[in-house]
Amino acid sequence: MLPLMPLQMTPSYPRLEVNLDILEENARVLLEKCHSWGISPVVVTKGFLADPVLACAFRDFGFAKFADSNLANLVRLRGLFGPQVVLFLIRLPMLEELDTLNAYGIVPFVSHGEVLERLNSVAWKSGKVQPVVLAIEGGDGREGMLFEEIPEVAKLLQRLPYVSVYGIATTLACLSGVLPGWDTLDRLMQVKEFLQGVLGRDIVLSVGGTTFLALWEEDPPWGVDEIRFGEALLFGSDISRKRNIPWLRQGAFVISAEIVEVRTKEPLKEGAFGYDAFGKQPSQSFSGPRKRILVAIGKQDVDENQLYFDDAHVTIVGATSNYLVLDVEESTKSYQVGDIVSFRAGYGAVLRAFLSPYVAKVYRGRKTGEGER
Ligand SMILES: *Cc1c(COP(=O)(O)O)cnc(C)c1O
Repeated sequence: MLPLMPLQMTPSYPRLEVNLDILEENARVLLEKCHSWGISPVVVTKGFLADPVLACAFRDFGFAKFADSNLANLVRLRGLFGPQVVLFLIRLPMLEELDTLNAYGIVPFVSHGEVLERLNSVAWKSGKVQPVVLAIEGGDGREGMLFEEIPEVAKLLQRLPYVSVYGIATTLACLSGVLPGWDTLDRLMQVKEFLQGVLGRDIVLSVGGTTFLALWEEDPPWGVDEIRFGEALLFGSDISRKRNIPWLRQGAFVISAEIVEVRTKEPLKEGAFGYDAFGKQPSQSFSGPRKRILVAIGKQDVDENQLYFDDAHVTIVGATSNYLVLDVEESTKSYQVGDIVSFRAGYGAVLRAFLSPYVAKVYRGRKTGEGER
């Protein structure tokens, strides 16, 4: 009789290895920078689904503010950390989320007066004042109120005693790739000063994400109170400028998977061609037979466009749902079935790996010991 359960319940591969030592060093450097700039840092956890092991590590490294685009992640962080940390929902809330936000003391980004009014009545009912961050459009064409709407919103806020403005925020380089400039910051400073005048107290100017760091490498920031970053801390890179940040470390995330086929083959040259399994037109290059390896990891687990392989003579041909295909024709190494290959993983690849239940997560680090989940 075969056992009812598979013999190996949690396969060791594919796996995502997280190097906590590298993350700790990035945390230390970023905390020091922010301290010297007089800016408060916020860890954006959406890139790793607010994974509890990583979130706790960042809290232990010294961060006290966290932001995520998913409310369930934030509720989990509240359970993990208690009331001491500040939590932001950095995606504009859906109406059905307002009660939960208020109950868990989570600070949402808001860009509409109607939502402020609704939050006010939710908070009035619970008796718990609701802090909010006003999202301001900074030029990227994504969320945020326009500059000319601010006076109207300020007037509205004076009628909403249960809504309290924590600050204003803008986000750049996410959608249109607009990079921040000093003129953007100048305008935000004007909004902040205007609102401080109306409200009669100080509020926070918060900017994100990683793209803002480059602005301050030469001239320290002025007037900004808070920065939200994920990419710099996790990957030591700034994709908006296609660069590695020279004062941070890369390579904290490595994805490994097993080779399940090694063969020299060639896709058919003739016949009818359709689209691939994802509706894309495959790029056909008829280069003759090539040695290919198939790796047991696919689009369901990873974004193959953000995997970096250390054998420069190997190219990633593409991926199906469950295979990654590499061309190893030019390589001097001999790849065998059963070998494990590893890739440095970028933002999208790590996010997808955390989303996939098929990818084992392994944490390595001097302090934490080694753990597997
Ligand atoms: C994702 C995000 C960030 C962090 O961006 P990084 O480029 O990962 O540093 C900051 N703010 C908001 C609103 C975001 O959505």
